[in-house]
Amino acid sequence: MTTATSSLQDALQDAHARYAAANPKSLAQHRNAAKVLPGGNTRTVLFSDPFPVCVSAAEGCYVHSLDGDVYADYLGEYTAGLFGHSEPAIKEAVQRALDSGWVRGGHIPQEAELASLICERFPSIERVRFANSGTEANLYAIQTARAVSGKNKVVVFEGGYHGGVFVFSGAKSPITAPFDFIIAPYNDWAGTLALLEADKRDIACVLIEAHQGSGGCIPATPAFLKHIEAWANEHEALFILDEVMTSRLSGGGLQEVYGLKPDMTTLGKYIGGGFSFGAFGGRADIMERYNPLRPNYIGHAGTFNNNVFTMYAGVAGYGKVFTPEVAKALTAKGESLRKRLNKIARTAAFPMQFTGLGSMMNVHMCPGEITSTRDHSRSNPLLRDLFYFDMLEQGIWPARRGMLNLSLPMGQKEFDQLADAVSHFVETRRDLQI
Ligand SMILES: *Cc1c(COP(=O)(O)O)cnc(C)c1O
Repeated sequence: MTTATSSLQDALQDAHARYAAANPKSLAQHRNAAKVLPGGNTRTVLFSDPFPVCVSAAEGCYVHSLDGDVYADYLGEYTAGLFGHSEPAIKEAVQRALDSGWVRGGHIPQEAELASLICERFPSIERVRFANSGTEANLYAIQTARAVSGKNKVVVFEGGYHGGVFVFSGAKSPITAPFDFIIAPYNDWAGTLALLEADKRDIACVLIEAHQGSGGCIPATPAFLKHIEAWANEHEALFILDEVMTSRLSGGGLQEVYGLKPDMTTLGKYIGGGFSFGAFGGRADIMERYNPLRPNYIGHAGTFNNNVFTMYAGVAGYGKVFTPEVAKALTAKGESLRKRLNKIARTAAFPMQFTGLGSMMNVHMCPGEITSTRDHSRSNPLLRDLFYFDMLEQGIWPARRGMLNLSLPMGQKEFDQLADAVSHFVETRRDLQI
């Protein structure tokens, strides 16, 4: 442990050294992987400097490292891990899929069952189509809007995230999909309206997260969302709600909570029971364009759109385990945990707060209200990194960027463990020179 009055840089250096010493097998694995994967990595968000801990197994709401440590899984696979790692109903369904054969190359009953579940819970989704990821779902939703409207521009928001080629926070990415994007300020209606009006004849759709997940767990105000919805309706631009993460916050997602009726919704993450999943759906008149019985229908291919494992696991997990009642209960647990953590954070010697909604939250090392990524750009990145390494040492598995997500197998024991770890961080780092 560093001395009480060390500088933040020293403390972080020290944390790195202890981390490296504690995870020699992960380091060896990383070096091996780097021979064939750039930086030993095939999914950027999982990388952690100086090298990532390698996960060798997982069970319930715990992950096991190659180095023999067990962590309470507060990453929750960035919300795709809602069911934890070994939900029996999903296991049983996947076993049935194994027993009845996969890669069948035909329609299967479970695809209509999963679609029915989604359409029941989301009244705005009258028809739905499946894809393999949230990225794909958003790509198809955007292209559907452009095809249906005959218009070109796509409005997204600062700090927004809609998949690997739709990143609108941080530095501009050279692999962003080549659409004509208008990037509007989140939670700033006057600023957004000015941009919308400037291009009003050519806007195909407005795509938004009602709670920015990747952007740092920042809820949009209901008023902001209503303004956007009304403007889109008035100007015949499609209002697309990305509920890839937020669908978990109630039986019918944030659109149910806020009384929104998007033209299209995109889904992903946990709905496939932990298997690759994406979906886009919405108004029947829009989605029926994909009906192959219609003349001039739009084709939508994808070898794994009705992937047997995803469909079986989705019906079991989303249908039987994650009922609307369970969704509501999990959101309540998250709300109370976030309050508890914020109470601890207020006792810290440095600015620290947890933002979010329900079972998703993010730590930020800055004071004041956070309504956009602009607000938390003041967050101290070194202190947040130190938080990450300190959490690992306390047996907590968070996202490097400070995101924490609940999963269904979690209970009081895990909530206490996180609260204790955060208290420990606040206490042991009290005299840090920042
Ligand atoms: C994760 C995510 C996506 C992309 O989903 P993938 O399955 O990772 O491609 C899109 N939108 C939001 C809001 C997400 O959180």
